[in-house]
Amino acid sequence: MIIVPEKEIANLMGRTQAFDAVEAVFAAMASKDAYNFPVIREAIGHADALYGFKSGFDRKSLALGLKSGGYWPGNEAKGLTNHQSTVILFDADTGKVKALVGGNLLTALRTAAASAVSIKHLASKNAKTLGMIGAGHQSAFQMRAAVEQRNFEKVIGWNYHPEMLSRLAETASELGLPFEQATLEQIGAEADVIISITSSHAPILLDAHVTGGTHIACMGTDTKGKQEVEAALVARASVFTDEIAQSVSIGECQHAIADGSLKQSDIVEIGAVINGDHAGRSSEDEVTLFDGTGVGLQDLAVASSVVDLAIQKGIAIEVDF
Ligand code: NAD
Repeated sequence: MIIVPEKEIANLMGRTQAFDAVEAVFAAMASKDAYNFPVIREAIGHADALYGFKSGFDRKSLALGLKSGGYWPGNEAKGLTNHQSTVILFDADTGKVKALVGGNLLTALRTAAASAVSIKHLASKNAKTLGMIGAGHQSAFQMRAAVEQRNFEKVIGWNYHPEMLSRLAETASELGLPFEQATLEQIGAEADVIISITSSHAPILLDAHVTGGTHIACMGTDTKGKQEVEAALVARASVFTDEIAQSVSIGECQHAIADGSLKQSDIVEIGAVINGDHAGRSSEDEVTLFDGTGVGLQDLAVASSVVDLAIQKGIAIEVDF
């Protein structure tokens, strides 16, 4: 068995590898070569934690395994990230355990890669202003990946806790872009691409806020009961997702599905656009929305790449197991 510890991931996997792995696995999902197993996610009644498993199998790449972990809201005060996760890969031919891979940085990279894939395939080619809703741990990863997809000229941002906006300002500065704190009305009117990445349980971005042909990547809603965007906005948009089953149950679409304003058959898997089976954006005025729920296959894809890179670079730890 191979072990790739968390501390090695940053030296192995960059945004380009994560983007390529995630784009390929979304394509494999849409062509039915890869599928996710049902998600287990439980409030364990300790430390306010949500804990669970995401798993799946990709018959094309033979990635088989699971990501185990979840969200511990008190971790930041202990100097740890709130998300904690570990990926276990298995040999698809024998079922033997193949690798144990630190999953924290990989989660941030694969989640940012997912919204970047949606921007590549769905946002207006002329997008200039990036709107960020959310300023937590994931937000910086999201911004860095997004700006590689279009020639953005500025970033505007809003956060429920305004004192956290310095993270967005610092990240924009690192990327050489000006940053402005904005209202939700300004973000809805001015941003060509909006990324929402919060742990909100009530709509933040409202239908009335969005006035142009915006692309919205909803990345925060990954559990039943969470919500970042008003259901009427989801119903008005052309909706794309990583996986329809997750989108309607734990993703941003759960609310529009529940109130009947969106049908499951209205939602398109982003892989269909990547594969060329769906045209994606049809006009500059269209609002496109990507419901990025976060699938286990993303984790297996990036973890498999990391294992290959660790072997190539001679830093994989081999254990007789
Ligand atoms: P974090 O704890 O570092 O930051 C939380 C963010 O949510 C901050 O911007 C905070 O101000 C905001 N927030 C907190 N309470 C809020 C409220 N009541 N209303 C509105 N905003 C509120 O978390 P993070 O690591 O940045 O993750 C953000 C979200 O992304 C979480 O919900 C997490 O579960 C989700 N996530 C999704 C995926 C995916 O694949 N879709 C992957 C990783 C994380």
